[in-house]
Amino acid sequence: MRIVVLAGGIGGARFLRGLKSAAPDADITVIGNTGDDIHLFGLKVCPDLDTVMYTLGGGIDEEQGWGRADESFTVKEELAAYGVGPGWFGLGDRDFATHIVRTQMISAGYPLSAVTEALCDRWQPGVRLLPMSDDRVETHVAVTLDGEKRVIHFQEYWVRLRASVDAEAVVPVGAEQAVPAPGVLEALAEADVILFPPSNPVVSVGTILAVPGIREAVAAAAAPVVGLSPIVGGAPVRGMADKVLAAVGVEATAAAVARHYGGGLLDGWLVDTADADAVAEVEAAGIACRAVPLMMTDVEATAAMARAALELAEAVR
Ligand code: GDP
Ligand code: CA
Repeated sequence: MRIVVLAGGIGGARFLRGLKSAAPDADITVIGNTGDDIHLFGLKVCPDLDTVMYTLGGGIDEEQGWGRADESFTVKEELAAYGVGPGWFGLGDRDFATHIVRTQMISAGYPLSAVTEALCDRWQPGVRLLPMSDDRVETHVAVTLDGEKRVIHFQEYWVRLRASVDAEAVVPVGAEQAVPAPGVLEALAEADVILFPPSNPVVSVGTILAVPGIREAVAAAAAPVVGLSPIVGGAPVRGMADKVLAAVGVEATAAAVARHYGGGLLDGWLVDTADADAVAEVEAAGIACRAVPLMMTDVEATAAMARAALELAEAVR
C-alpha cells in the first residue's frame, strides 16, 4: 500500500511513527513543510524536515519533540560571546552539523530534495521524505508590535514571541512561484491513501497546499484523503495553532478545521472522542467523520489512530 502524508514538524513526525508501526509493510512518502525554513548564521535550517528525520531515525530529543537527543550548546554559547544572535533559536552542536552539511550541498548546487535524501541516508527514517518544493518558501506573519505593524518570519513569531500577540495574517512568501519538488505530484497521483496527520492546518499542511499544483493533486487523486484533528476539545493539543487559525478566520474546533479543508479535499476526518458531538457537523459538510482517541501519548496509542485513519479511508474508498 502506498501512503502519502503531508507533514509539519512534531505532530506530523509523531503520527508517522505510529503509522509505521500500524502499517509496517506500507510504502510511505512524506511531503514535508518547508515554509518554516530559516537562514541563521549563514546556514539553511529546515525545522520540520529535520523533526521528521530525527524522530523516525531515532535521533530526536523525545521530551522536547524537536532537536537532537543528547545535545550540547557550545557553538551557540560561543556565538553569543561574540554578540552574534539570534539567541532565541535553539541550535545545538549536533544539530549544527546537519545544517552545515545541508548548506554545503546547497551551495554546491544540489536541490533541497537531493540534500534531504542524502541526510536521510544517515538517518534511515523508513519513509521517503520529500520537501514540498525545492524552491524557497518562507512563512511570514503580520503582527502589531508596540503599535507598529510589522511582518516577521514565522519562527520569530512562534519561537521568539511564543505567539503572544495576534497573528493578523499568515503569508507563505514565495509559495505562488514555487513548484512541487520532484516526486511530489507523482506520489499523490499514485497513492492508495493520502493522510493529513494532526499537523498545524495553517502553517504546516496549509503551506504545503499553497504550493501551486499540490492542492489540485490532492483533490484530483484517486486515493481517499483522511485527516486527523490537531484540535481536541477546542484547543490545540500542543503549541498555538489557535493563533494562526484565527488569522485565517477559522475557529479552533475540530469541526471548523475540517470545514476549512473542505469536502473538496477531505473524504474523511477523525476527531477526538472529546469532540464526538462534532461528528454530525463534519458529516453535514460532506466529510465522513468518526470520533476516536486522538492523543499521541505513546507509539501504541498513535498506531491505533493511524489504524483508525486507514479504516476510515477504506470505508470511504
Ligand atoms: P510543528 O511543525 O512542530 O508545529 O508540528 P505540526 O504542524 O506537525 O503539528 C502541530 C500540531 O500537532 C499542533 O497543532 C498540535 O495541536 C498537534 N498535536 C500535537 N500533539 C498531538 C496529539 O497528541 N494529538 C493530536 N490530535 N494533535 C496533536
Ligand atoms: Ca513547523
